[in-house]
Amino acid sequence: MLQKFDSRNANLLVYVNGAILPREEARISVLDSVVQGGDAVWEGLRLYKEGVYCLDRHMRRLMDSAHALDFQQIPSVESIVGALGETFRSNGMVSDVHVRLTLTRGEKLTSGMDPRLCDQGCGLIILAEWKPPVYDNESGITVFTSSIRRNGPEYLDSKIHHNNLLNNILAKTQANYAGCDAALMLDNRGFASELNGTNLFMIRDGIVYTPYAHHCLPGITRGRVIEICHKLGIPCQEKDISLTELYTADLVWATGTMGELTPIREIDGRKIANQAVARAMFDQIASAFVDSRSAYCTAV
Ligand code: PMP
Repeated sequence: MLQKFDSRNANLLVYVNGAILPREEARISVLDSVVQGGDAVWEGLRLYKEGVYCLDRHMRRLMDSAHALDFQQIPSVESIVGALGETFRSNGMVSDVHVRLTLTRGEKLTSGMDPRLCDQGCGLIILAEWKPPVYDNESGITVFTSSIRRNGPEYLDSKIHHNNLLNNILAKTQANYAGCDAALMLDNRGFASELNGTNLFMIRDGIVYTPYAHHCLPGITRGRVIEICHKLGIPCQEKDISLTELYTADLVWATGTMGELTPIREIDGRKIANQAVARAMFDQIASAFVDSRSAYCTAV
């Protein structure tokens, strides 16, 4: 699965630090914290015709991440949402759009690791692109288990949605060489944590399981799927999940804003059963996800 260039994105307008600029002129400083240390936090948002999905939850996670990293002079949620709306209007965008919103610690006085060098406040980049869900949610994806472990609170807490993505990028590189669509990352004890860019669910004997959020991003789509299961009366539990349990599951799927709900058809060459009862449960959850979506969208 390799994303292709979408010609609708040829003339994008991008928001950078207060200005709306054509994509080829949209630049940040070489002294920005994100260039020197990946020192930034981000959100991936999706715009449907009813508005941005789970906007409040995304903004809360962004603010929590910035606060945890001790960013200074963090812009208000209102100003960030205002910039988001301005970016959509400038591009004439109403749906079918994915946004990469990046908040950096900001520009430094001089190169160096000390956060105090960023004395001008945060930088804000809003890249909104025309992008339908990226995975094939009908036939599903293949997954390869990476040797790169997902980091947890013992190193860099996965609850911070930061731009230090090299762990996940190395894992994805391994999956690419293995000819698979995504990388499965394990936690420090060898239990499944998540895929390199999505969360993980499985069904076995009528129960939905997902890994604890100790070593994965507490994804917003993950949170919605758990809520939907509770609403539908489908048992859903967080649990330590071993590779064997995934290989022998009745059905496994991934969740994320970029691709929504994506079945996994193969892990490390083992076909995942796609068992009929589990498939009916998954279809019920996926339909409820789509049906409830507009109630969770906010027009900006
Ligand atoms: N895990 C990782 C590592 C991610 O980067 C993302 C997407 N930001 C997700 C899971 C999915 O999270 P969400 O449902 O909030 O898009």
